[in-house]
Amino acid sequence: MAQPLRSPAALQILPSACPMDCPDACSLDVQVEDGRVVKVDGSRVNPYTQGYICSKVRRFPDLLYGEGRLLYPAVRRGAKGEGGFARISWNEALDLAAAKLRAARERLGGESILPFSDGGSNGLLTQDTTDARLFYRLGASRLARTVCSVPTSMAAAGLYGKMAGVALPDYIHSRLIGVWGVNPSTTGIHLIPVLQEAQRRGAKLVVIDPRRTQLARKADLHLAPRPGTDLPIALAVIRWLFETGRADLAFLAQHAHGADELRARALPWTFERAAAVSGVPAEDLERFARLYAETSPAVLRIGWGFERNRNGGSAAAAALALPAVAGKFGVRGGGYTMSNSGLWGALDRPAALCEQEPATRILNMNRLGRDLLERQDPPVAVLFVYNCNPAATLPNQEMVLRGLRREDLFTIVFEQVWTDTARWADLVLPATTFFEHEEMSRGYGSMILHRSPAVAEAAGEARPNYEVFADLCRRLGLARPGEPETAAALGDALLAGAPRLRAAIERDGFAYPDSGWAPIQFVDAFPLTPDGKIHLVPEALDREAPLGLYGFQDDPATRAYPLALISPATNRTISSTLGHLYKGIATLEMHPQDAGPRGLRTGDTVRVWNDLGEVRVPVRVSPDVRPGVVFLPKGLWSRHTLSGTTANALAPDTFTDLGGGACFNDARVQVELSP
Ligand code: SF4
Repeated sequence: MAQPLRSPAALQILPSACPMDCPDACSLDVQVEDGRVVKVDGSRVNPYTQGYICSKVRRFPDLLYGEGRLLYPAVRRGAKGEGGFARISWNEALDLAAAKLRAARERLGGESILPFSDGGSNGLLTQDTTDARLFYRLGASRLARTVCSVPTSMAAAGLYGKMAGVALPDYIHSRLIGVWGVNPSTTGIHLIPVLQEAQRRGAKLVVIDPRRTQLARKADLHLAPRPGTDLPIALAVIRWLFETGRADLAFLAQHAHGADELRARALPWTFERAAAVSGVPAEDLERFARLYAETSPAVLRIGWGFERNRNGGSAAAAALALPAVAGKFGVRGGGYTMSNSGLWGALDRPAALCEQEPATRILNMNRLGRDLLERQDPPVAVLFVYNCNPAATLPNQEMVLRGLRREDLFTIVFEQVWTDTARWADLVLPATTFFEHEEMSRGYGSMILHRSPAVAEAAGEARPNYEVFADLCRRLGLARPGEPETAAALGDALLAGAPRLRAAIERDGFAYPDSGWAPIQFVDAFPLTPDGKIHLVPEALDREAPLGLYGFQDDPATRAYPLALISPATNRTISSTLGHLYKGIATLEMHPQDAGPRGLRTGDTVRVWNDLGEVRVPVRVSPDVRPGVVFLPKGLWSRHTLSGTTANALAPDTFTDLGGGACFNDARVQVELSP
């Protein structure tokens, strides 16, 4: 069970840290009364987050003790998906889970078991520790966790070996800041005051986003490209830098491979050609290029928004190549920031396991629907879902739901709340949250690693992931004597290969990476590629991309489905996590030029559809989304639309050019007044 507090006082303020899928990694002060969390505040332990936190995590007590909390193990009663369940004991639940896993392995082989997890609101102790141990030893199918950040990560690893990025607080030293494919007003809110201060000191701000976001309104230049066309924009700037003699050839000669090849691949992309494809006027593209070339320090904040399409990996690579070509490194506030999750190399491989991953088949999570319905070698017989809500979050949603409906599929959902996926389960198991178990978490924007204790009693009978998976290992005869199972032992094992981090954690409760928390690229932080150089056209990526790296794939729009549907995060729905706390019905945002010919006005209920499915929601007519693009929020649950389906019902399960990522923004749709 989750560790009880040793001596619950009437009211305590206890330290914690947020492990949510968010770049910022806030340190927290949690008010706890009689073992229950009553208030969540920011603390100043993390120097970047400065003691304030987002409203979502402030509301975490609603998740802990609200109506949606999963409190007891339960088995399905009635038809799949109808949500009828009967409470059982943990012992019965784990015996049943073990029996189903054992039977599937004996009848069809271990690969008929598919563990399905993707981080969710969990840290380093509650994923890839005892869970991986269990599924490795069962010989289960392996999951490619590709729904988010794989194309960008591959690009960053290929070009720079995941070099540390510019620290976000260092943006106050920048004179030009490009915010590209990310909206920090909703994801990474602590960047906003930094941007404001930088602008106050005279920095120029360029925002590249198909929507006129709050931040875009404050920008000196806003480029609103069609989804999937960031690649031509970046290549056009690269071309111009080379062709006008502004490329830093001396830097490239010293630090990079592939500059000539990159130049050749960018050559066809004049501003005019990029403008025709992207819908951004050529003069705006040139203005951006000039500003970037002529201003230093210049930094690019490169996000995950533009990876969600067929060109996503190449687009990320091209944007990452820009600071190398333009010679923007070597100065505080200059370079790029993408994800900093790669800075904790010593922790990446779970030392807690001490065993090899088996060479079983790998299933791409973006094709769960297909794998559940069509795969026969062997079919998936047991689906074990944890830290994840696939019924809501995956492309081709209708196919995923049909797969979950299969009567011969046994679905186990181990979760904190009654998610959309839990409703489809045969067996549900209640999980603790990060306030109820010990956790370790790292930021992927701010560079900090936290180890935080349990601060509250577990609600109901919820139990931590690591404990339950260890229990299942024992029931299935797969446990080995002496291996770490508790949070303390797993945490120690994870830190065993990183003595400096361990010492800092033991002393302070947090640690910074080897590069420090504010490195200067090419002064304190260098490419982590094998030869320490930038690889502008890495061979492996070039081989994988269907048209080669930097090859542009055309827009998938058709006459029947001419509108591009995008689904970015909003301040209420960043990801599916905490979705049940949002009670409203989402709206589709549409430009007046698209709404007018369709006779649509704000407040009308519309039907948004393509060959994959349909969504019914009210429409909001707004000039804030560019013509030809419609917008539904990311992270919706079935309750947030009138049809019970989300934007993902319209997203194809095609792959990005690199890494088999999800192409959410390649959804092309039609919209009409709902009958
Ligand atoms: S801003 Fe991000 S890290 Fe901070 S509390 Fe909110 S979700 Fe957590």
